[in-house]
Amino acid sequence: MLDPFGRRISYLRVSVTDRCDLRCVYCMAEDMTFLPKAQVLDLEELERLCAAFISLGVEKIRLTGGEPLVRKNVMSLIRNLGGRIGPGGLEELTITTNGTQLTKMAGDLYASGVRRLNVSMDTLDPVVFKDITRWGKLEPTLDGIFAAKAAGLAVKINAVALKGVNEHEYDRMIAWCGEHGFDLTLIETMPMGEISGDRTDQYLPLSLVRSRIRQNWTLEESDYRTGGPARYFRVKETGGRIGFITPMTHNFCESCNRVRLTCTGTLYMCLGQDDAADLRAPLRDPGVSDDDLKEIILNAIARKPKGHDFVIDRRHKRPAVARHMSVTGG
Ligand code: SAM
Ligand code: SF4
Repeated sequence: MLDPFGRRISYLRVSVTDRCDLRCVYCMAEDMTFLPKAQVLDLEELERLCAAFISLGVEKIRLTGGEPLVRKNVMSLIRNLGGRIGPGGLEELTITTNGTQLTKMAGDLYASGVRRLNVSMDTLDPVVFKDITRWGKLEPTLDGIFAAKAAGLAVKINAVALKGVNEHEYDRMIAWCGEHGFDLTLIETMPMGEISGDRTDQYLPLSLVRSRIRQNWTLEESDYRTGGPARYFRVKETGGRIGFITPMTHNFCESCNRVRLTCTGTLYMCLGQDDAADLRAPLRDPGVSDDDLKEIILNAIARKPKGHDFVIDRRHKRPAVARHMSVTGG
């Protein structure tokens, strides 16, 4: 699948639910209204769409959300997608999770073919964790991370850089990740969805964070890539990797290889733009074959825009896109 700018689309992110057991301040409003069930694709429908994408050349699928691991029976989807790993199918099936369900699920994930997880954890401080997630506890996430490690899964910790909230913790997190063998990625906040707060208060440019980190750590250039937008460095003192995802200060769209599918079957060709294709109606139309479905997907890919133009400043208080990150999936 090639888009109009010659980029090969080989990576599909699937948001399997808009629901979550946490309410991170940068991601959701406290009183979120979630989608009615009838609008949400069932697991068989999600699998049929994933299969269509795989046959069109998608090699990597990441399940996300909302919190993907709180969706009922999600393990059956994961098992079935895991069965598609291999020549001519998927190269990799990965998951982005807040980690709260991993003590229960890590072993099954490994058995299904998952080898890497991104676990979002913005702080190692239980009080700050509760402030960020509004009602979460740090311990289940920490336990989940260690359960994943024990099950043989490679863990990357994702932390959103939040001004005045976790900005003094990066040294500690780098040391902790180094000690336990986890990669760490810092992410800039993106202006997505109303969140009942002012984003200019949260926004912390990673260019600044990086130069601060360099005062205490030696960051060596690295050409390591995971197929995602992060730029990685090796931390000489720990041997671990640190990545920076900088949608605000550095536009990474030139090398974009992905599209995003929501749990309602809406295909977004760009995280930062509103154009989308509805795949649920054709999916539920008995007259539409798998080949027709692929044709519809290809037509959508042909509309993939060149990039996003996120801005956070005092003049742009409205989100760049109205939907929350939990809709499109991070
Ligand atoms: N619940 C899972 C989790 O937290 O990992 C998966 C979904 S969550 C939407 C995916 C990622 O998006 C998380 O790492 C989260 O921190 C990030 N995220 C959410 N809202 C964001 C925003 N406005 N800007 C930047 N990253 C955001
Ligand atoms: Fe839930 Fe993940 Fe959003 Fe936090 S970032 S509210 S854990 S979906």
